[in-house]
Amino acid sequence: MKYFSTRGRDERLSFEETVLTGLAPDGGLYIPEHIPALPENWKSEWRSYSFVDLSVAVLSLYISPDEISQAELRQLVEKSYSTFRHPDVTPLKKLDDKTYVLELFHGPTFAFKDVALQLLGNLFEFFLLRRNATKSEGEAQERLTVVGATSGDTGSAAIYGLRGKANVSIFILHPKGRVSPIQEAQMTTVTDANVHNVAVKGTFDDCQDIVKSLFADKEFNATHRLAAVNSINWARILAQTVYYFLSYFHLQSQLPEGTNIELIQYVVPTGNFGDILAGYYAKRMGLPVSKLVVATNENDILARFWKSGKYEKVDSSATGPGPTAVANGASDGKQAAASSGVKETLSPAMDIVVSSNFERLLWYLAFENATGAQGEKQKEAGRAVNGWMSSMKADGRVELPIPVLESARKDFVAERISDDETLATIKSFFESDVPYIADPHTAVALAASRIVAKTNSPNTYQVVLSTAHPAKFSEAVSRALAGSPQFNFDRDVLPKEFRGLLDMEKRVIDVERPDVELVKGVIESLVGHQAGEIKKSGSV
Ligand SMILES: *Cc1c(COP(=O)(O)O)cnc(C)c1O
Repeated sequence: MKYFSTRGRDERLSFEETVLTGLAPDGGLYIPEHIPALPENWKSEWRSYSFVDLSVAVLSLYISPDEISQAELRQLVEKSYSTFRHPDVTPLKKLDDKTYVLELFHGPTFAFKDVALQLLGNLFEFFLLRRNATKSEGEAQERLTVVGATSGDTGSAAIYGLRGKANVSIFILHPKGRVSPIQEAQMTTVTDANVHNVAVKGTFDDCQDIVKSLFADKEFNATHRLAAVNSINWARILAQTVYYFLSYFHLQSQLPEGTNIELIQYVVPTGNFGDILAGYYAKRMGLPVSKLVVATNENDILARFWKSGKYEKVDSSATGPGPTAVANGASDGKQAAASSGVKETLSPAMDIVVSSNFERLLWYLAFENATGAQGEKQKEAGRAVNGWMSSMKADGRVELPIPVLESARKDFVAERISDDETLATIKSFFESDVPYIADPHTAVALAASRIVAKTNSPNTYQVVLSTAHPAKFSEAVSRALAGSPQFNFDRDVLPKEFRGLLDMEKRVIDVERPDVELVKGVIESLVGHQAGEIKKSGSV
């Protein structure tokens, strides 16, 4: 299997090159040259497979055996998911006859990004060790320096994915004092020698700007071989396809023998469109999914696209004087972060302006609506995506052709959920017959599932993806359940792993100003150091 860019470049990459490259040089995202079909007998053959078995089965359809053998793949996958606390890795729980939750938060950092990042870290290490094994003595070893910024909710998943990995260093910048104490502790209590938490005196946007400048600095980038582990990395999407298959089988095993589950809907709390895109691949491979439901918070660019066909940063249909109508969030008066246009919501991991992985879906929609032979259609799709993305870059908006919107509506529906609805949903599921405590991201999906269910046929099953443990977003959960006398956070939510976390040993490097040169200095002084050489905490 080879991979190419969504923007039409001719070049074809191996899986290894795709994973190590991340973003294509033309700005596009890598996609497989075709979507593989499932083996004829997959329903019977895969039925009793574990998460690991299914990972090997699904991933090997996308990775040539001469790149990673089945035995090596199994080792990588086993290692990656041995860090999960639940024997099913991603268990499926019943809420009512038609609604199930697929819990994706049983990994080391209690959020769904672990599923992909645990594997990505092991893939990086595997490729680097293999490359370095062929180097002669004295030849420079290949290394990667992973750099990223976090507002708190996702940095720890990258850190846990890369901790202790050979030939990889990771630097995660966070705004000092602006991250919740639990989230900060989740990151800074990882004291492996290759993990560097950088606390920048400034905002999250400052941290992001610094990371962008580092990647833009050609010389620095080449010297340190900077890498990102953001959600556009193909390996992340691929890893996430597995739980769609697993949950299909788990649903089947929980239903009476012989139940036909041709109508299964996946409801996915969506930000950068990576999680739900994995479901799209599963569907295209042959998993019998009727619809994928895109659930967004008030950062609703995707929900607006499925309503209008317009993909635009700012809602042009909003009444009022242009951009400020959206920025001020007419209904609830919440302020947008002035610089970026992102609205801060109770589900921060979905606070986005544009959804990076949506570009991959656009390519498939363009392909479907192109004409000619396979190769011609691929070229045409690349040209179309390239044009749309240029409009996005120049104008912040693009209006997609009607047939493209119609294609998108065949597989997806989308709903936008406000913060108020999110809080009400947490409360209502806690107070239902089978009490369930949802984190705010999961609650966005649960709320969307209820809306969509109103028009579902009676034999439709809904699987709602639960992307974070409620303890990770304790403020929102406690706020939603403040009026429920039977609710006790410490007893009902707090996992034992979080107890005492705040008192554990920490390692963090303080940077006194949001200054890219200071951060460069930190990276230069620490890359490649071995355990023992690094003092507990430093300051720049
Ligand atoms: C990242 C994240 C999401 C959104 O997933 P995308 O793949 O970006 O759509 C949802 N919930 C949580 C808790 C997340 O961390």
